[in-house]
Amino acid sequence: MKTIEDLQVNGQRVFVRADLNVPLSDGRITDDGRIRAVAPTIAKLAAAGAKVIVASHLGRPKGEPDPQYSLAPVAARLGEILGRSVSFATDTVGESAKATVAALANGEVTLLENLRFNTGETAKDDAERGAFADQLAGLADLYVGDGFGAVHRKHASVYDLPARLPHAVGDLIATEVGVLKRLTEEVERPYVVVLGGSKVSDKVGVIDNLLGKADRILIGGGMAYTFLAALGHEVGISLLQKDQIPVVLEYLERGKANGVEFVIPVDVAISASFPDTKTHKPVEDFEVVDADKIPADKEGLDIGPKTRELFAEKLADAKTVFWNGPVGVFEHPTFAEGTKAVAQALLESDAFTVVGGGDSAAAVRILGFDETKFGHISTGGGASLEYLEGKTLPGLAALEG
Ligand code: ADP
Ligand code: MG
Repeated sequence: MKTIEDLQVNGQRVFVRADLNVPLSDGRITDDGRIRAVAPTIAKLAAAGAKVIVASHLGRPKGEPDPQYSLAPVAARLGEILGRSVSFATDTVGESAKATVAALANGEVTLLENLRFNTGETAKDDAERGAFADQLAGLADLYVGDGFGAVHRKHASVYDLPARLPHAVGDLIATEVGVLKRLTEEVERPYVVVLGGSKVSDKVGVIDNLLGKADRILIGGGMAYTFLAALGHEVGISLLQKDQIPVVLEYLERGKANGVEFVIPVDVAISASFPDTKTHKPVEDFEVVDADKIPADKEGLDIGPKTRELFAEKLADAKTVFWNGPVGVFEHPTFAEGTKAVAQALLESDAFTVVGGGDSAAAVRILGFDETKFGHISTGGGASLEYLEGKTLPGLAALEG
């Protein structure tokens, strides 16, 4: 892959596909990690005299403008981080984008509005995506792919656009891929993987590939309840993916055969309802029960204290750790203890520790941990997982050659 250094960017319009999909609450950015992660690439291009056109998606708008998913607050924050003004185009390939790009002087930076305000960005139809990519290509001379969190998507700005412009890989993606190589090739053992989060179906798949690589797999978060159900336990109203039970049983079997240890919660924190993560209203019926004693009307929302200790033990001698997905609903302090314990165990270990996933990375920072104490905090959860699954990532494939 070509890098930025291989491009002659001075005076050129350089399209930077970034992943600025940050968590927002009432229009306020609650975690700017992804903006800070790509800022050095943008600063480097600007310093080299490029006219930098930054573009990203934010959330999941329905292919048309939707103010709650506007990137305008991100433009402001990006400007603060870069210490320079960043102009903002109120559309993606329309009059505003054209005028804003035309007004760029060498070394200046602009951000386009949310790419997903256009149906062409995510279209399944190659021609429709291609048509949007053609319009985007009209804005720029060169392409730099640095939106690591989106490289597993076959989207116009990620997959089709680099085919239309001379392109290079940005520094963030280069770093992320370097880290993922350390998790797949010549891994230092014991290699322990912690999986949590809420997107159960997205995450069960990675286990398949990890069964040939990891020494231990710790299961927390929403996925834990599909494992507990597979073991025949009542899981009440917890997150559960019934159709994945046979898959999970097969993994448990294969784990035994391959000498991969699954560590499943032995106790859980429960409540009758999902906690209020906005106001942090106290949880009146908070309770910890053994993992095989979840009442039918309760929901498991975090690992319990015995499991916290068990996880810490299983992490203590690790030499490599990959963690994806908070092990509880960390957005409410009552259910943040498990996630805190995992983060703490990672800090205390001398392993190469990698945290992947938007919410996992945000959890580490929001819960007050010093992110520099981790080996690497990835900006892409889905992308990291698909890489670890051994899949070809469209956005990386497009940057090759
Ligand atoms: P990441 O972005 O790190 O890949 P996910 O998006 O998969 O992680 O999941 C993060 C979400 O998972 C958090 O918002 C957290 O509240 C939620 N979560 C964790 N444990 C549970 C649980 N037991 N039940 C429901 N949601 C959970
Ligand atoms: Mg997430």
